[in-house]
Amino acid sequence: MLIQATCAGCACLCDDIVVEKNGEFKVKNACRRGAGIFLNYLEGRAKPSINGETSSLEEAIERASEIIADSKKLAVYGMDTITLEAQKLAIKIAEKTDAFIDDCSSFCLGNFVEACLRGEIPTTTLDYVRDNAYVIIYWGANPVHSSPRHMSRYSYFPRGKNRQRGYEEDRFLVVIDVRKDHTSKIVKKNEVFIEPESDAELIDSFVKIMEGKAAKYSGEVAGILREIKKGDAVVFGGLGLRYGLEGDFKKFYNLLRKLNEFSKVYFIPAGFHSNMRGFNESLFEKTGYVNRYSFGEQTSRKEFEFSKLLTSSIPDTTLIIGSDPVNSLPFDVSMHLSKINTITIDPRRTFTTEISDVVIPSSISGVENGGTMVRSDGVKIKLNSVFENKFDDTYILERILERI
Ligand code: SF4
Repeated sequence: MLIQATCAGCACLCDDIVVEKNGEFKVKNACRRGAGIFLNYLEGRAKPSINGETSSLEEAIERASEIIADSKKLAVYGMDTITLEAQKLAIKIAEKTDAFIDDCSSFCLGNFVEACLRGEIPTTTLDYVRDNAYVIIYWGANPVHSSPRHMSRYSYFPRGKNRQRGYEEDRFLVVIDVRKDHTSKIVKKNEVFIEPESDAELIDSFVKIMEGKAAKYSGEVAGILREIKKGDAVVFGGLGLRYGLEGDFKKFYNLLRKLNEFSKVYFIPAGFHSNMRGFNESLFEKTGYVNRYSFGEQTSRKEFEFSKLLTSSIPDTTLIIGSDPVNSLPFDVSMHLSKINTITIDPRRTFTTEISDVVIPSSISGVENGGTMVRSDGVKIKLNSVFENKFDDTYILERILERI
């Protein structure tokens, strides 16, 4: 039997995956990481537990609900790998308990997503890029590692409706990074690599050259501007750009607007968890903010970032869904989790489940449950289930919501 599936391994959300279940279990079209998600879906699974003792799933849900109902300051965190349907339930739990809510976008690419949602920068879809874009700029993003099929499905390599000659003649790639990364190394044709000492200086160079003045990276920048004049361009901005800007996002957004006086230049954030943008959009729809939100104070502030809440010892309880902060946050931050009530909902055993008071195992989105996620460009993508597991995040979060 052949099953059409969507991979939720990264925000590319490849919806052309075919899973063959008859005889040998095979996964077609996925990258190595994506194939592994399907092929190894039974490995390293979490088990329900309370205070380190094995329990039933219902007992774990019941205990989690009691802890949340008794908590004075709850922080809900994660949610970037669960479906939109489950994210909306988690937001409802946070709203009902006047909790803090945050995801990893507050230290990842939330600022860029917010600028797209507020219409502060011109953006487009990956399908438009595939069909029309001539200049592809990866700025502080390394898709070969973060989103392995990004270049082959949407940007440099594919033939598009109006880019039939593909990368041989119809694409021009620019890679801007602090070192010659794999994205730059695999390209042999029509490419410029820039290793800037500072992103701010490089932005200044673009502006100066457009104004006819001399600038530090004049050779490379003048060449890129010449190519941009020939056709539509897109900038894929990653974590390297986010941190390279050192908080001065306006400088970069002004550059994008100025480039649009030359030609059509779009921006799409690149290289993050499968449904981080979905969380940003769901919270934005509800509150007008994309992350670091307090339902108690009805606003978003930097101090409400999950890691800052932990270091300030503000929450007495955390509900972590589909995330492993013990693995991703600095040790001195995540160690605070062991001092408060920690409830974790996750399909797999992680460092965070190991230190959690209550562990509730869930199904794997895109493998054992369907639903909807939002791709990095804001397009909603449907997920199918390949195997049956009715205990998905929505089932668990609905039970908790009923009981608090
Ligand atoms: S690129 Fe991302 S979504 Fe596509 S198959 Fe690989 S891991 Fe999955």
